[in-house]
Amino acid sequence: MGKTILILGGGAGGLVAANKLRKKLNDEHKIVLIDQNDFQLYYPSLFWILEGTRTSEQISKKLNGISKKGIEFHQEKITKIDVITKQVEAGENIHSYDYLIIALGAKLNYEAVPGIGPKNCLYVLPGILNLREQLKTFSGGKVYLVVSSVPFRCPAAPYEAALLLDDYFRQRGIRDKVDLRLFTAEAQPMPVAGPKIGTLVRKIIEGQGVKYHPTVKLASVDNQNRKIFFDNGDNFDFDLLAIVPPHNAPEAVRDAGLLGDNGWVLVNPAIMETKYPEVFAIGDITGIKLPSGKPLPKAGVFAHFEAEVVAERIAAEIEGKKPVAKFTGWGSCFLEIGGGKAGLAFGNFYANPDPKVIMLPPMKLWHWVKIIFEKWWFWKWF
Ligand SMILES: Cc1cc2nc3c(=O)[nH]c(=O)nc-3n(C[C@H](O)[C@H](O)[C@H](O)COP(=O)(O)OP(=O)(O)OC[C@H]3O[C@@H](n4cnc5c(N)ncnc54)[C@H](O)[C@@H]3O)c2cc1C
Repeated sequence: MGKTILILGGGAGGLVAANKLRKKLNDEHKIVLIDQNDFQLYYPSLFWILEGTRTSEQISKKLNGISKKGIEFHQEKITKIDVITKQVEAGENIHSYDYLIIALGAKLNYEAVPGIGPKNCLYVLPGILNLREQLKTFSGGKVYLVVSSVPFRCPAAPYEAALLLDDYFRQRGIRDKVDLRLFTAEAQPMPVAGPKIGTLVRKIIEGQGVKYHPTVKLASVDNQNRKIFFDNGDNFDFDLLAIVPPHNAPEAVRDAGLLGDNGWVLVNPAIMETKYPEVFAIGDITGIKLPSGKPLPKAGVFAHFEAEVVAERIAAEIEGKKPVAKFTGWGSCFLEIGGGKAGLAFGNFYANPDPKVIMLPPMKLWHWVKIIFEKWWFWKWF
C-alpha cells in the first residue's frame, strides 16, 4: 500500500526532506509539499541585496519546479493540523497523511512591539529593499540595527548586517559620517557558541567602529519622530533603522497541541519525532534544549541536516527496515565581514556540557565557499 508523506513548509528543511524522500521511495508513495508561497527565498544571501551584488530575483526560486521530480506541490496557507485524524487543512483543501513533517519555520511577530513591521524589518524582502532604497541617497547619520528579542533566526546574521553596512559606508567614503550601532537583547554575540566566539565577534564589530549595546529590550518605535525606546527607559533618535522582530511559532502548530513550555514544537532531539508517532518537526519551528540548557540556534544548516535524518527514518520505516539515522547536532555557519571575506564557525552543538564550536579567521576563501554553496543550493533542490 502506497503511503503519503505530507511536508508542511517549503523552506530550507521542507525542501530538503521532500527531495530526499523522493529519491529514496518509489512512485507508489506520494510526497506532498505545501507552502503559502510559490517560491523559496534563500536567506543567507539576503544582505547582499543591500550592497547591490544580488537582486531579489537572484535569491528566490519557484517551488513548482519540484513537480517534475515527482513531488506534488500545493501553494496553500495551512490553517489547521489535526494529529489525531491525521489531516491538515490548507486553503480550500484537506490533506490526509500517513507521515507528517512540520517545517513551517518561525513566524515574525510584528504585533509584539509597537511601531515595527515588514518595512523596517531586517529579515524580510520588503525591509531589505526599503533599506537599500534609503541607502542610495544616504550621506551620513545614525544607522541602528536592533535585535528585539531571543530566540531569532541565524544568530550571526545581525552581526553580518552590521559588518556589511560598515563595509558599504567605507566603500562610499562616508563611514566617518555614520554612527553605526547594534542593539540586542542578547548578552553577547552568538551566545550558544560560547564566550570565546562571542568575545571574538564583539572585537571584530567594535574594531570596525560599530557601537554594541547588549542586553537591551526594544519597547517601541516611533517612526514619525524617528525614535526607538527600550525597556530600561533609554531612547535614541535614528536616521535609518532595521529590526529583527520577535519570533514565534505559526498559529497552525500552536493550536495543534505540539508546543512545549518554550513556545516551540517539542521533539526528540536525535530523531525529530514529536510526541505523536509519525509526526516529525524540523528546523526553526522546533525548540531543542541543549545539555547546556541553552536552545539549539535557529539556522538553515540544522533544518537541512534534520530533514535528511527524518527522510531517512521515514523511508526506512516504510521499507520495513530499522531506522538508524540520527541528528548529531553538528552545524556550521559563515560570518560575512565585508571586503569579500567571511569567517567560518562550526562544531558539535550537542556536546556535553557545552557546544564545542570553533571559528576559523575571516578570509576570502570562506566568502567564496558561501557563494558556491548558494549556487549549489539552487541547482540541487529545485
Ligand atoms: C538574513 C538571514 C540570513 C540567514 N543566514 C543563514 C546562514 O548563513 N546559514 C544558516 O544556516 N541559516 C541562515 N539563516 C537562517 C535560515 O534561513 C533558517 O534557519 C532556515 O530557513 C530555517 O528553515 P525552516 O525550513 O525551518 O524554515 P523556513 O526556511 O523559514 O521555511 C518555512 C516555510 O514555511 C512556510 N509557511 C509558514 N507558515 C505557513 C503556513 N501557515 N502555511 C503555509 N506555509 C507556511 C513559509 O512560507 C516558509 O517557506 C538566515 C536567516 C536570515 C533571516
